[in-house]
Amino acid sequence: MSNQHDNAVTQLTTVAAVLASQYPDQARFQAAIKKLSEPQELHHTKLQVEMDDGTTKKFDAWRAQHNNARGPYKGGIRFHPQVTEAEVKALSTWMTWKCAITGIPYGGAKGGVAVNVLELSTAELQRLSRAYAQFIVPHIGPWVDIPAPDVNTNGQIMAWMVDTFASHLEKAPGGVLVNPLAAFTGKPVGLGGSEGREEATGYGGVLVLDKLAEKLQWKDSKKCTVAVQGFGNVGYWFAHHAFAKGYKIVALSDSGGGVYNPNGLDPAKVLAEKQRTGKLSGGEPITNDELLALDVTVLVPAALEDVLHQKNAAAVKAKVVFEMANGPTTPEADAILDAKGTLVIPDVLANAGGVTTSYFEWVQNLHGAQWSHAEVLSKLQPLMEKAFDQMWEAKTATTLSCRNAAYLGAVKSVVDAMMLRGWV
Ligand code: NAD
Repeated sequence: MSNQHDNAVTQLTTVAAVLASQYPDQARFQAAIKKLSEPQELHHTKLQVEMDDGTTKKFDAWRAQHNNARGPYKGGIRFHPQVTEAEVKALSTWMTWKCAITGIPYGGAKGGVAVNVLELSTAELQRLSRAYAQFIVPHIGPWVDIPAPDVNTNGQIMAWMVDTFASHLEKAPGGVLVNPLAAFTGKPVGLGGSEGREEATGYGGVLVLDKLAEKLQWKDSKKCTVAVQGFGNVGYWFAHHAFAKGYKIVALSDSGGGVYNPNGLDPAKVLAEKQRTGKLSGGEPITNDELLALDVTVLVPAALEDVLHQKNAAAVKAKVVFEMANGPTTPEADAILDAKGTLVIPDVLANAGGVTTSYFEWVQNLHGAQWSHAEVLSKLQPLMEKAFDQMWEAKTATTLSCRNAAYLGAVKSVVDAMMLRGWV
């Protein structure tokens, strides 16, 4: 398996080579790129968590804070057995670019715990979540670093973390000046969460897909077939909104495998059946490898990173790979897809609706406001469309891939902010 942080650095240096000519002071520019090759802060601990049987287990936990030149750090917390330091560092780097792409005033961060949540009871999960929150309390806050959910974390986990964070503030002199609700996003609506946040990543992706369809002159969305790998939060909501707009969802999968139906699947029905039986249904069973190689218009990796790699990229038949997961395509696979003429819409653009709506949640918390569902989604639309247009313009004006075109503006705005602050 490739080291995701090495991948993130390779992507950065590729873009830096194109961007360099815009900076007369090469020494300052190269110093900025060097700084951006590592997170500014990396926190690690072993969480000690009491199990229900009275024993104690230890779990490796990280928080990487990549860059805060444009604003406070922002990024999710992942609970997964394969979480590593390299993965958390890479994800924090990608968050920096993602925030810059939609123009929201944050830098990038990411947290993770190496744990299999399926082996924990609800009480153990709560103790683990609170232990993690306690570990990061000294490093976070509404103007410092604002965590959010990621793989295997959700609104309930954010609510426990808010509560732990708040209990520490109460003990701190002057701590009451900080609104603990604004220290986390992705919270339940009943505890300072935003309407629309749960679906925002998927919905934002479909807004970008619509823009792409317009540019590529796909006149009939029904003829546009879509296969989605990963039927979790992001995959489900992407499929739901794409289906609602008339795209034909022909395949869906989760970690247990997938289903394929050339006549189309209704994601809401597939979800209802999955909730009832634990399995995906509605079509013929296929493996995840088969799903990735389907002859569809749009392939949507929406599960984990590195699913498209050197060994399977050549088998991709889709015209477009639309990255709703973070880092699903390795640089080797990127090169293979590029050579085949497959368009790859990068994660930092495609799934930026999540962090953008997290930003809306934070703004609401800081203002004591509550926006309606329609208001939230309508505020998201212009930001996603502008981000797409900027990427497309850079791609059209250069020979860059969509990924590098998206990174170009993002890296430039972060480097410029670092220079304005006098960091380099
Ligand atoms: P989730 O835990 O809700 O869903 C993940 C899904 O992927 C599940 O259905 C799981 O069964 C499936 N899966 C896991 N391993 C798989 C495999 N090997 N093959 C096929 N399916 C597999 O997570 P999520 O929040 O939907 O996040 C998915 C991806 O999107 C991650 O890369 C995450 O970083 C990224 N992302 C999430 C958000 C968000 O708002 N939740 C925002 C931006 C990016």
